[in-house]
This record gives sequence, structure tokens and C-alpha cells, in this order.
Amino acid sequence: MCYLRTNILLMRYGFIFLLITCVFTATAQLTDKEIYDLKGGRVKPDNSFIYSLPYAKGSKFLLIQAYNSKMSHKNEISLDFKMKKGSKICAARAGVVTAVKADSDVGGLKDEYLSEGNHIIIKHNDGSEAMYWHLKKDGVLVAVGDTVTQGQHIGYSGNTGYTAFPHLHFQVFDAAGKNIATRFLTKKGIIYLRPGKYYRCIRN
Ligand SMILES: [Zn+2]
Repeated sequence: MCYLRTNILLMRYGFIFLLITCVFTATAQLTDKEIYDLKGGRVKPDNSFIYSLPYAKGSKFLLIQAYNSKMSHKNEISLDFKMKKGSKICAARAGVVTAVKADSDVGGLKDEYLSEGNHIIIKHNDGSEAMYWHLKKDGVLVAVGDTVTQGQHIGYSGNTGYTAFPHLHFQVFDAAGKNIATRFLTKKGIIYLRPGKYYRCIRN
């Protein structure tokens, strides 16, 4: 009897102790900013990685098209940063290079140019992959198998492949091959980018 009673007491107080620990831990982990964001409904998924803007720290570029834009990004989740040829392209996230092309010198809005885009593809530690497209001829500084750090200078922008003007096309696919939107660190905080705005890279 006594043994059983002790057990029930242990279970009861154990549960209360666990509850207190959970509440305390949860409270302790929230910063004032997080509480402010929660109250304002600005809830973000915990697993959402924070990308750097894919160019040199301090430089800023106009985002021409963002997710599902009307021109060439219909039903496509990708970003087009307008930039003159030869602008430095930097890794938005650390990873391993899985594909590169740097031998093309042609570009335009003809179907024959679809496969002519110079590019870099980088695989991240969660299996997702980022694509950096339309780089200039010989504008790739990394090779397949290279490990790159976030912010590392990996190439130069250009106008190769299926493109109407010099720009960087940036696109991310998750491990299952699904095209996804990603958050970036900007002067205005950690956000999903919007078209028609300039974004300055503040970290590399
Ligand atoms: Zn594009």
C-alpha cells in the first residue's frame, strides 16, 4: 500500500515538476523581440534557415522579380536581382558545390538559350540546394566537390542563358526537390524579399 501511495505521489509531483520545468524553459527561451513578434502575429517556422543576400557585403541590388512574379517566374519560387555583368556573387548559405557551368557566352529570350546559362549549384546540410544562374563566361570560381562558406565569393554575374537583361537568378529546392521560399537577413530584419526593392547585403 505504502509503496503504491509513494508511487502515486511521485507521479503526481513528478508531473507538476515537469510542467513547471517546461513552462520555465519555454519562458526563458523567448526574447523580448520574440514575444513582441508573437503578439504581432509574426510567427516563423523554427526550421526556416536565414540566408545571406547572394552578393558582396555592402553592395545592394534591385530585386526585379520575386516569388511567383508575372514575367518569367509564374508558378516559380525564385528571385531575380538586376546587376551589371561582373558583379560579385557570394554563397547565400554554406554547402558543397554539386554542379557548375562556365563555358557559355550567349544569352537572350530564345528557347535555344535555355541550356546556355552558366551556373553554380550548392547543396546544404539539410539536403536543400541553391542555384545561382546566368553567370558570365568563366565567371565561376568554384569546382564540383568544393566546400563553400556562407558569404564566400563564388563567381561573377552575367547574362548567359534564357535571360532578358544582366541579372542573378537565385532559387532554392528542398531535399525532396520542392521549390521553396527562403528568408534573408536584411537591414529590416529577417524577411522574405519583395520585388521592386533594393536590398543591401549586411553580412557575409
Ligand atoms: Zn529568374
